[in-house]
Amino acid sequence: MSVTSSNISRRYRIGLASNRTHQDAAHSPLAQLINGSRAAIEHLQPNLIVVGRTLDAINQLGLLNGYPHIERFPYGRQGGLMKLVSRVVDSDPARTLDAVIYLMDPVDPSSTFPEAVALKRQCVIHGKPFLSTLAGAREWLELEATAQGAARNADLDVTFDLASEGIALIAHDAMKERMLAIAERHFSLLDQFAFRCATGTTGSLLNKLAQKIKGEEAGRNWVKPFLSGPMGGDAQIAELILDRDQCRRVLFLEDPHVARQHEADIQLLERAARTVTDYALCINDAGCGERWLALLQQRVAIQAR
Ligand code: PGA
Repeated sequence: MSVTSSNISRRYRIGLASNRTHQDAAHSPLAQLINGSRAAIEHLQPNLIVVGRTLDAINQLGLLNGYPHIERFPYGRQGGLMKLVSRVVDSDPARTLDAVIYLMDPVDPSSTFPEAVALKRQCVIHGKPFLSTLAGAREWLELEATAQGAARNADLDVTFDLASEGIALIAHDAMKERMLAIAERHFSLLDQFAFRCATGTTGSLLNKLAQKIKGEEAGRNWVKPFLSGPMGGDAQIAELILDRDQCRRVLFLEDPHVARQHEADIQLLERAARTVTDYALCINDAGCGERWLALLQQRVAIQAR
């Protein structure tokens, strides 16, 4: 099974880590994630592969008492995060990870260590969800659980009212065709959002698609294009996210195989999402994006019943 398959034939294997400031308090993002996703976790019964100190915090706070599917990984300083990277790329079903939840605090220096950067990059390359915010992890667990028959978590209903939500769409050059294909396939869902925005070139391509589908006039301003990524568009979208009012979701089809002149801007956008961890989320590759939008559609339909 992989997370892109709709049929679970074995338990998900989820890598779990968290920066220190996101662990310890009773209302830390880690505690909010587990307390807020308890029903989804119970439904999915995933194997959780948890880095040392994160597991210590879970135990200290009594967050998963009695939960049977936990594997302890070493502490970060002993290579726990590095071992997670190796498991992301491992093809052995008994060892591989289907998704990684790493609750990152952008002001913790360890969130920029090479293993942290590689963990995300290898998730993107291998098409596995890399969930670095509380909101992203909660939404992923909710969508996967409801797709497999769990009752919906009504606490999240407000976030699935797409008529009051925005979404940002960004694609690096090699991924622009794929973005257009995804947008065409999921057009009716994307059209339900109150607001769509994009970096410059991606945005103008998406508006051309929208004109084809909705007609020249109605499609002209379907997406608000900001500046092109290399000219600062990522930073403009980051500000919307930081302001918590227009846009919490980002579909960012990045190209992990090229050197990127504006790498700093790309990192800035991700760090903006992590700065408002309870609010924003970023999906980073096409396969995960397809599944995410399909499950989002199902979750919206469940709520409308
Ligand atoms: P663009 O920006 O949509 O203007 O091409 C995306 C990027 O390459 O960062």
